[in-house]
Amino acid sequence: MDPDREAEQVASQILRTSFITVVFTACNYYKTETTASVNTIQFSLPDSASKTAVPSLPKKKTKTIYLTFDDGPNKGTKKMMHVVQEEQIPVTLFIVGQHVYGSKEQAAIFDSLVASKYFEIANHSYTHAFQNKFAKFYTVPDSALKDFVRCADSLHLTANIVRTPGRNIWRTATVSSTDINSSKSAADSLYKNGLTQVGWDLEWHYNDTLKLTNSSDEMLLQVDSMFAHNKTKTPDHLIILAHDQVYADAADSAELHQFIIRLKQKEEYNFEMVSKYPRLKN
Ligand SMILES: [Zn+2]
Repeated sequence: MDPDREAEQVASQILRTSFITVVFTACNYYKTETTASVNTIQFSLPDSASKTAVPSLPKKKTKTIYLTFDDGPNKGTKKMMHVVQEEQIPVTLFIVGQHVYGSKEQAAIFDSLVASKYFEIANHSYTHAFQNKFAKFYTVPDSALKDFVRCADSLHLTANIVRTPGRNIWRTATVSSTDINSSKSAADSLYKNGLTQVGWDLEWHYNDTLKLTNSSDEMLLQVDSMFAHNKTKTPDHLIILAHDQVYADAADSAELHQFIIRLKQKEEYNFEMVSKYPRLKN
């Protein structure tokens, strides 16, 4: 081959190779840049979108509150009823048999409690421990049992869930506790005779003139604290004791209303009736 022609061909080959290399590199560069920018877009879009488009999930209701009211029906029961029905939460009432028959009005209140889906009726004895003669009541377990049975029969109660008058006593499948030692054998005897006894974790106290001694805010702090420090008989389950008669007072029934509203605002709190408490019976 002519050396000039050969040189020309070699030069042409080099030129072609260089051109291909340049084009390839350029394409590759473009591709890399494009990929990078696509990647940037892919990373940034969903991230910013997730902050605005995905709603935050509601907190799971992991803690259960059992609101209980003792000693009704009495002068405070109607106002308590109105608050509970307005807020539509389930509560448990430990009723005194004798109080149902105390007046026509109280009998009518009892009937409306039974008819309402928000109230569960449980046994607080027929005579409230022989009208608060607690020592006598708990010294003779047989007569105490008869008093609970009389209440159950007269009110047609079948669940056998009772609250002992004047005593914070627990006898369930998993909880056994007696606040005053002298009542222990009576509590054991009642349990052997089929009565599940449910006390309370926290009481909303009142003074001699039937006025609440704690505000709803203070009660709310106590509820939060008991759950946080695991001070309840069963973890994540809290039974609150209140008394109907206190809420005859307008300011105190407003406090009760506020307390329930604030509890409902806490997304992790759920409300239940005492019969739903874990493992009441074997
Ligand atoms: Zn009582």
